[in-house]
This record gives sequence, structure tokens and C-alpha cells, in this order.
Amino acid sequence: MRFSLRCILLVFVLAAIFCSPTLAQGAEVSADRAYGHVENLVNIAPRFAGTEAEAIAASYIENEFRSYGLEAWIENFTIESSYVIEENWLRIISPEQMDIAFVPLIYSPSTDNTVTGRLVHVTGEPENLEQLRERVVLVERKNVSRTLIDLPPLAVLTYLDNWPPYFEPQWSNPPNAPLLWISGWDAQHLIELLEQDNVEVELQFRVKVESAVSHNVVALLPGQSDEIMVVGAHHDSVLTPGAVDDASGVAVVLEIARVLSTENLPRTILFTTFGSEELGLLGSDAFVLEHAENDIVVTIVFDSIAPGPGDGLRVGLRDSQEVATTEWLDAYAQELAENLDLYAKSGHSSDVRGRSDYASFTEVDIPGTWVYWVNPQHGEILWPIHTLGDNLDAISKTRLEQTASFGVELVKRLAGEDLEELRWAYEELPLLLAAFAVMSAGAVVLSIAAGSFMRYRRGWSWSLAARVFSLLTAAVVVAAYIWLLA
Ligand SMILES: [Zn+2]
Repeated sequence: MRFSLRCILLVFVLAAIFCSPTLAQGAEVSADRAYGHVENLVNIAPRFAGTEAEAIAASYIENEFRSYGLEAWIENFTIESSYVIEENWLRIISPEQMDIAFVPLIYSPSTDNTVTGRLVHVTGEPENLEQLRERVVLVERKNVSRTLIDLPPLAVLTYLDNWPPYFEPQWSNPPNAPLLWISGWDAQHLIELLEQDNVEVELQFRVKVESAVSHNVVALLPGQSDEIMVVGAHHDSVLTPGAVDDASGVAVVLEIARVLSTENLPRTILFTTFGSEELGLLGSDAFVLEHAENDIVVTIVFDSIAPGPGDGLRVGLRDSQEVATTEWLDAYAQELAENLDLYAKSGHSSDVRGRSDYASFTEVDIPGTWVYWVNPQHGEILWPIHTLGDNLDAISKTRLEQTASFGVELVKRLAGEDLEELRWAYEELPLLLAAFAVMSAGAVVLSIAAGSFMRYRRGWSWSLAARVFSLLTAAVVVAAYIWLLA
């Protein structure tokens, strides 16, 4: 009995020792608050750029910043082509009744009124194209041809097997009929129905393409200097709930802002959520232009904390010059993550197939990095972004909390770093050390060769050769070292 009591006590003491650093670390970040922000933003979805939903999301974020005691404001900018979707539906009306969820290809045209039509499943080159004019066509995405779309049928429903409805990047020429992505499972059900009977479909699809106002939300944390760090995410979404992309990043930025709101850091921080990221980084472009006179020295962007394993944290993007983040900044942030017991590395543009708002800054030579979480085992490592599956179910509270805690540390430390020194330490120093190593090794090899030559060809004694050439080697190494320090 006494023995087991002791055991229990020991377990408690050990648990206290092991748990306390974890509890202390990131105790200020609240996973529940972060999750709550994602939940609230998903309720205002889709937050497509320039729509009322985007404006509501922007004012929600502005109010949050203000509730932390920060000065906050909204910066408006105009976009040429917002895509406003009114109340729409896609419904099977016979042989059974069923609503089908869909995501339209952006800039698909409206139907005139509510249309009804027979459904036809097209599997290859259609034999009689003309007959499809008054039909709703169901066709796998790989079989959607320009000829079919240009006909046009009443509407085209497309899908990928075993995929939720997907937000496809815009076409250079918009389609002539509504092109609607439905899920692979719904498509399968429709095909089964078609094998038994005629299928009648009803569609209402009213949309407007118009110029609109989009918004950047900015909050100021004054620092000891006018040098500015931008800590950002984007609040707009594609035509999906946008939980991971990028309500998660907004939640992380809000939590960092709340936790740091009473600090007086060496640099000034502008917490910013951008609009119109999904239309091609329009918000961050507008922000860079608006703040061209300010001394922005570094940017960290949080975009897409996807559900992934413990080794899924990514800081930075490699491979492609165009979308690459700043390598020395990535290395600094990754080292910090490792010190916080997080595994972090850079992503590769061939896997990630995307970029984010940091690119508007790096393009004008402001160092920038991108923090995100991926699932390296999934074929699409940022799954389920840009699908209807990007909803609350995809959000991991743990990953949100870990990213926000890491973000707090990163912002706090980076705000006080000499950036030129960091760049030198992570970019130039490794090169200089490599050069030093090569020069030193070269000096040793040459000395041995020269010593042997003097011994055998000139009759020097080994001890004389060793003394002379070790002195010479030391001189070369010292010279290389002085060059390194210079
Ligand atoms: Zn995004």
C-alpha cells in the first residue's frame, strides 16, 4: 500500500515536471478562441471578394482587433470583377426529389430564369451535339470540351470521382453555359438513376459580375521604432466555406494580436487581414501600394492551417523563383519552431501549387515568409482547400493552437532582431564557412604534397619538412580566418 502510494506520488511529481513547460508555453493562446473565430467566419461564407459577406467578415475582424485595445481600421480598394451569387439551387425533380450542392466555375453566366431539362450523361465525344442544347449535361471533368461548352447546353454538371465539389481556377475565356462542379458521389447517384429512368433537373443560377469594393483590415501595435513588421492572413474565400483557407490564418493572426496587444516591442506591428487574395493577391498588392511610404521591413503570412500530422508545419516555399519566400527568414523561423519542439521545414512549389500574400511583399524586395500546415501523406497536401469539404470538420484545434503559439514567439522575437545580421548569419555565413573549410583542407593537402616533394627530391628531413609546411598551413588557415571575419 505504502509502495503504491509512493508510486502514485512519483507519477504526479513526474507529470508536473513534464507538463509544466508545455503548459507554460503558449498558455496565453486559446485554442477555443481561435476555433471560435473560424466558426464565426465559416458562418459568413463564402466570403468571396467584393461581396457583402466579405464586408461583414472584415468588420467582424476590425471589431475583434478593437476589443483587444488596438487601433484598427479598414482600407478599401476597388476590384474589377467580383462574382456575386444570388439565391441558387440545383435540384433533381424526377424520378425523385433531391437538392445537389455545387460550386460554379467562376464567371460562369447566369441562366435566364429557373430552367428545367432532361439530364444526359456524356462519356466521350457526343454523337449528336445539337441534341444536347436543351439538356443538362453530366460529364466527368476530363471530358469537358470547349465545343460542348460553346454549344451551349442548358448547363454542364461536372465532377471528379470521389471528390467534393471543387473551385476550379478561372478559365481565360469564361464558359457559355453555367459549369457547375458537383461531388463525385452525387454524380455516381445521378448515373445510377439515369440507368433506370429519365432524370429531370431544375436549376436556378443567378450571378452578377461587377466591379466592387474589397477590404484590408489593419490593426496597429505601436513599437519602439517606426520599422514595421506585417503579420497577415486573408479573410476572403473562394466559393467554399473557406475554413482552412483562410479563416484558420485569420484566427491565428487574431490570437497573436490579442496575446501581444499589451506588449511594447522594438518594432511596430501591423496585423492585417487581406481581401481578394483568391483573385490574385489583390489585397496585399493594394496594401503594399498604400503603405509604400512606410518602412515595412518584414512580413509573415499565415495561410491555411490544414489538418495534418505532427510533421506538417511548413515555413516558406522553395523551388520556384516567382513564388519563393525569403530563405534566410524561413531558416530563422524553422530553427525557432524546432526550439519549441515543432517540426518545421519549407514546402515545395510543385507539391503546394499555390502562393499567398507574402508574394506581394517579396516582389518589392521586402523579406517575407508563409506559415501553413499540410498533410504530406495526402496527394493534395493542402487538402481540402478550394473544395466544399473546406468546412469546420477540416479544422484541427491542436494545429490552430500550435501555429498561434509558434506565431506569438516568432513575432515577438523577430520584432527585436537585427535583420541584416540574421540575413548574414543564415545566408552568407554558411557559404563563408564552406569556403573556409575548402581553403583549409586545400592548404593541408598542398602542404603534405609539398613536404613529400622536399623530402624525396630535395633531401629535406621529415622533421624539417613537417615544421616548414605546418607553419605555412597555419599561416594560410589564419589568413582565411581573417578574411572570413572581414
Ligand atoms: Zn489562402
